[in-house]
Amino acid sequence: MRKKKVFTQTVKRIFHPEMKQCLDCGSRLRRSVTISERTVITLSQVLRVVHCGYRCPAADCPGSKRLYRSMEADALALPGFTFGLDILLLVGQLRLREHQTVDEIHRTLTQRLALIGQTICRREMLFLFEAYTALLRAGTEVSQDAAWKEEVQENKGLLLSVDGIQPDNGNETIYLVRDVLTGRILTAENVTDSTKERLKQVLAPVAALDLPVIGVISDAQPTELQAVAELWPQAPHQICQFHAIREAGRLIYNADHRVKTDMRIRMQQRTHEYRQNMHKRLKEAEEKREENQQEMEQLHILEEYAAMVEGALNIDSLTPFQYGGLAMQEALTKIQTSLEKLEKGGEQ
Ligand SMILES: [Zn+2]
Repeated sequence: MRKKKVFTQTVKRIFHPEMKQCLDCGSRLRRSVTISERTVITLSQVLRVVHCGYRCPAADCPGSKRLYRSMEADALALPGFTFGLDILLLVGQLRLREHQTVDEIHRTLTQRLALIGQTICRREMLFLFEAYTALLRAGTEVSQDAAWKEEVQENKGLLLSVDGIQPDNGNETIYLVRDVLTGRILTAENVTDSTKERLKQVLAPVAALDLPVIGVISDAQPTELQAVAELWPQAPHQICQFHAIREAGRLIYNADHRVKTDMRIRMQQRTHEYRQNMHKRLKEAEEKREENQQEMEQLHILEEYAAMVEGALNIDSLTPFQYGGLAMQEALTKIQTSLEKLEKGGEQ
């Protein structure tokens, strides 16, 4: 069978810590290292992730050794994984909730990834499933990790991030609780109800670590706020803008994503073939340069338009408020207007 080739662009994104000020002295944090630079494949795009670490610039500050990370960057994929956390959670859900077979999951994933020009082999997928089950056991492992606990003591405690992720539209939510400062996942649990009592159970293994909590960042869900307030009444609690805005933008984002994917499917292959054909004709015309001057100019213009269309098809979304589908439509409309002018003999 002939394999359909899909072209995707890698989107470069630079991540900075969500915390802007030193937890000890309040100084504005400064960039000090690149924690990692890696490729992450998510369900919607291929990202080149640059993760920047910040520190307090005040030399005499007791917190000057603490390295601040971006929790959004850490939330993209587990350390050492190229496939994103969203894919990992999807694999886990399909297996454990839908009881799909390995082949069925592989087929679903292959279809989803084909839209962004990526593939996954069965072995990689099984590896993701293992990681998913390991994730759900994260709490027990972390409690026995002495080296990590020492690191936490140096940071003077945990900066918790509580993140509820709904992999599908079902009523299940996976709660991931991580320490923002070390990037470590402390516990993960799959719940069907998000009452305050249930969330306190989810957070219980973290409380049992008996480590100081210097702050909590979560989304604005009331039961989350209540559970945190009861477990760590002293800890300052910040509602994460990233979480809040992501929630607000999700509906539009999903709708936009469908439109974008649909446009890509309909146009990408054709545009690409058209350009290939242009390149061939240009080459032929160039060989007979003298008699084909005018034709060559025309071909150049057509090829430029095709390149613009291809570029427009590769516009990506950036959560929360940059919608790839809308931008794509706007770009294509501009190209169309320009072509219509050209047809009438006006300027381009
Ligand atoms: Zn400081």
